[in-house]
Amino acid sequence: MLPLYRDLNHFLREKFGEKVCKICVDAGFSCPNRDGHIGRGGCLFCGEKGGGDFIPAPDAPIPEQIRRGAILAGRRGVRRFVAYFQSFSNTYAPIPVLAAKYRDALQDPRICALAVATRPDCIDEAVADLLASFAPRCYVWVELGLQTASEHTARQMHMGYTERDFERAVRTLACRGIDTVAHIMVGLPGQSHEEDLHTLALVNALPVTGIKIHATYVCRDSGLAKLYLSGRYTPLTLHRYVDAVVDLLCHARPDLVIHRLTGDPPRHSLLAPDFVRNKITVLNLIRKTMLDAGLVQGCRRKDSP
Ligand code: SF4
Repeated sequence: MLPLYRDLNHFLREKFGEKVCKICVDAGFSCPNRDGHIGRGGCLFCGEKGGGDFIPAPDAPIPEQIRRGAILAGRRGVRRFVAYFQSFSNTYAPIPVLAAKYRDALQDPRICALAVATRPDCIDEAVADLLASFAPRCYVWVELGLQTASEHTARQMHMGYTERDFERAVRTLACRGIDTVAHIMVGLPGQSHEEDLHTLALVNALPVTGIKIHATYVCRDSGLAKLYLSGRYTPLTLHRYVDAVVDLLCHARPDLVIHRLTGDPPRHSLLAPDFVRNKITVLNLIRKTMLDAGLVQGCRRKDSP
């Protein structure tokens, strides 16, 4: 049976010949949109942990975070791991600091890949050179928070960067052979499905190698909570989210690796929508919708056979 989409687990299994798990790392970085360099409040949808809500010991030294993560995944029989620098902007520090933190993670010989999440405007030539210098040791990819290609929405969300920063970052990394994964948010305030498709079209047109899609959710500690609580923002329903994701998958380049189709919101501070608490339900509904309609990744592209 043909797979419905090219998911990350299969991609990693093909690449390494066995199951590989991510270990999420909090390296203690900040974000220029929080420390005052660009802004103070952060993007309106950002929670207080900057995305790293499921790291068991975020204050421990990096090798210890890796050790604990490896023990947990090892119980499921996994022997090789991706060190995933997740919280805040993981290229936002002087080069020697970045180099030391990445090296800390790579001390463990079981780490076979380094994944670094960051803002597009925190990638420059020096950072890209540093990341490329680890390529002989392990597979390296960078996750860039694009979220939307709509300048209007990016401004409204106080993101402080645009799709032009994203394009520049992708090209800076791609010319050094580093893979990039674009984060895309569906259901941002005032954003239509046509704008989501426009965001995906930008990704399709660039040398991006993977995408992560998730629903916009409202955390108690975020700026978006004010809009939501005052009735100025209505999150998507489960069915509208699923329909949007299925259509995006159908328009995605078939070679793009699908890293994620749902988010992992912090349960204690999640205000809405409720369906994002149940990842399995969302994934099953996406699969069922595609199966029932005979859809696969890329099938609605103009160049599709
Ligand atoms: S760029 Fe990322 S970490 Fe920084 S405020 Fe926005 S969502 Fe949060």
